[in-house]
Amino acid sequence: MPTKIEVLATLQLVDQSLRAKTRAVAEGEGRVAALEEAVSAQTAAANAARAELAALAARQRDLEGRLAAAEAKMKDRRMRMTRIRNDKELGLARREVDLLKEEIGTLETELMAVMEQVEGATAKLAGLDTELARLAAERDREASELRETLARLSSEIERERATRSELVQTIDGDLRRKYEMIFSRRGGLAVVEVRGGICQGCRMRVPPQLFNQIQRNAEVILCPSCQRILYATRDPCLGSEADASVERSVGSAEAVPRPAKPARQN
Ligand SMILES: [Zn+2]
Repeated sequence: MPTKIEVLATLQLVDQSLRAKTRAVAEGEGRVAALEEAVSAQTAAANAARAELAALAARQRDLEGRLAAAEAKMKDRRMRMTRIRNDKELGLARREVDLLKEEIGTLETELMAVMEQVEGATAKLAGLDTELARLAAERDREASELRETLARLSSEIERERATRSELVQTIDGDLRRKYEMIFSRRGGLAVVEVRGGICQGCRMRVPPQLFNQIQRNAEVILCPSCQRILYATRDPCLGSEADASVERSVGSAEAVPRPAKPARQN
């Protein structure tokens, strides 16, 4: 029959695993949501650039049309001039040709400027579209990764929640609340082993007068420096198994660093 502190240590393993898994899911969801937002912002920017380019292209076509018309008109007037014999009419025709020349010059200048703008807008749109494709691909990749994570973890999370509620039923309510408070305030580590007289939560030395009580794992004894619940691993085999599973499920971030077994001193 495990003592209440041992039950808490087991509960903690489940809670650490649950915490790591729900975090992995939440982080995946966060990444997908952020990319979704980036994709829609990029889509809006690309659409605005596309509209701008379309307007410039329309302007270019209009200028090209007007230029062609002016050039045709000037060609026509020059042809006519060869047939004019009257000085007054010739003067008028020359004046008209000069005006057309001026108009053509203005249109050409304007067209050059618009063509440059079209070139710039085309390059800008291509850049935005490339980035949009990159973001959309990344979003799709993250989304499929999230689906895989969910497929992998959902049933495990469900199973661990069931294990948790079974364990919790065997723990006194006040103790459970105390444990949960420490767990959430102390980075997911509420029950810590004392090894070699050192609290594995804060690496401080535990007063020797507490040792015997800690060895029984029967009372709630808090580390005087980090206020975590102290416990002793009674069976070294079980202890190392439990630790290995913590490291597997939680990763290294919050797992207690485990020093190598001290060499036997002779
Ligand atoms: Zn401590």
